[in-house]
Amino acid sequence: MQIRGRLTLLFLMLASGILAAVLFAVFWMFRQNMTEAFYQGLASKAEVTVKTILPEIDKVQISDATWIAPDENSKLPYQDNISIFNSNYERVFSVHSDAVPVPVNDLANIYTRSRYKFEHFNLCAFGMSATGHNGSAYIVVAEGSPDSTAVSKLRNVLIISFFLGIILVSATGWYYSGKALEPMSAIVREVEHIQPSDLSRRLQPGKNQDEIRKLAVTFNHLLERVERAFLMQKMFVSNVSHELKNPLTVIRSQLDVALQRDRTADEYKIALESVLDDIRDLSETEQRLLHLARVYTNPHSIEMSATRLDELIWQAVDQLHKQFPGARAIIYFSEMPEDGEDLEISANEPLLRMALVNIMNNACKYSPDNQATLNAFFRADGKHTLEIADNGPGIPDEEKLLVFEPFYRSPRHLLSVRGTGIGLSLVKSILDLHNIAIRIEDRVEGGSVFILSLN
Ligand code: ADP
Repeated sequence: MQIRGRLTLLFLMLASGILAAVLFAVFWMFRQNMTEAFYQGLASKAEVTVKTILPEIDKVQISDATWIAPDENSKLPYQDNISIFNSNYERVFSVHSDAVPVPVNDLANIYTRSRYKFEHFNLCAFGMSATGHNGSAYIVVAEGSPDSTAVSKLRNVLIISFFLGIILVSATGWYYSGKALEPMSAIVREVEHIQPSDLSRRLQPGKNQDEIRKLAVTFNHLLERVERAFLMQKMFVSNVSHELKNPLTVIRSQLDVALQRDRTADEYKIALESVLDDIRDLSETEQRLLHLARVYTNPHSIEMSATRLDELIWQAVDQLHKQFPGARAIIYFSEMPEDGEDLEISANEPLLRMALVNIMNNACKYSPDNQATLNAFFRADGKHTLEIADNGPGIPDEEKLLVFEPFYRSPRHLLSVRGTGIGLSLVKSILDLHNIAIRIEDRVEGGSVFILSLN
């Protein structure tokens, strides 16, 4: 069942329960009042009888049970029956000769309590005791059936009102639940139109600060992530094929040229060394792509452990020298804490090391003297800063963010420097994973400085 139907049903059940309870309370109170009023009527009839009929009966001084027919001209407002009993519980007067007998225990109750309400033979009865002139005791009983027409009329009206109420409640419940869910349906309609080819579409969050707006905003965030992931994948696929195709073409043409004619051993050696260089580049690209894919596709699977930042820097320098034999890295540690534990951070050691190596490698690659300077500012609160500076051409402001995009290579270096355009995007992804911010600033003396801020 749809939410709209369920809401309406729930609303209906709740409202009909309340309505039934209220209507029943009204009916019950009305019937109680009617019965009470009827008993009051019986009581006043009994009192009038005591005042008017009883003295006459008393004058007659009945010793035995004698039937006295009521006076034809009696002014009593009879509709029901009124009886008078003597102290032996014998009926000495009755408006209707065929009146049903009153049980003796009820008569005894009237006698002891002097005024008593009771029911017998489906009749409501009121009895009161009275005393004659000569002290003889009598019991006067007025009895009858209350007029049930008003009660049944009210019952019918209430039953009709109940069903009308239910119909009204169902209709309004259906209408308002539809209205309340309308923004949700609008979202569903909008989402249905979003295709993988058009992930730039966004939902309208609406003006109200409600859950629907929250849902739309959350969905928009999800769309942003999906769009980014789609874009990445698209770029990834097209660039991977491009990145692999280029070196393969170069290798192929070098081998073609080498095989065109017989060459000396030295010439073959030079050609093979050049091919080996290209294969090394290719394998580096492949390694970087693998890392990039892992960091992008499943960042949560990457394990973190306590890592000493100073040791990590030295390991990165070692690795840099292996990768780039001509590279020179100058390291400065400032504000070195006394306790080595202050330098511990939670990190994935191989990945973070790779990020540092990439930045230093670039710094050496783009500097004419192949030199990178790393300044580490350690702080006891863990907010360490690493600055990696170079003497290179610098990075123009408009490229400072672009260089972190996957496969972005500055047009200034396309021909002059070998590269893949993956390094810095990999660096950025790894740093994001470690919650480390990175920014590029210009150095006054020329070149750029990459600033990494931890925490
Ligand atoms: P590449 O393999 O091309 O170096 P990166 O992702 O490492 O790929 O860098 C992207 C671009 O950023 C480079 O093409 C280059 O233009 C620029 N860049 C990176 N580091 C430096 C630097 N230290 N100095 C100047 N430009 C740099």
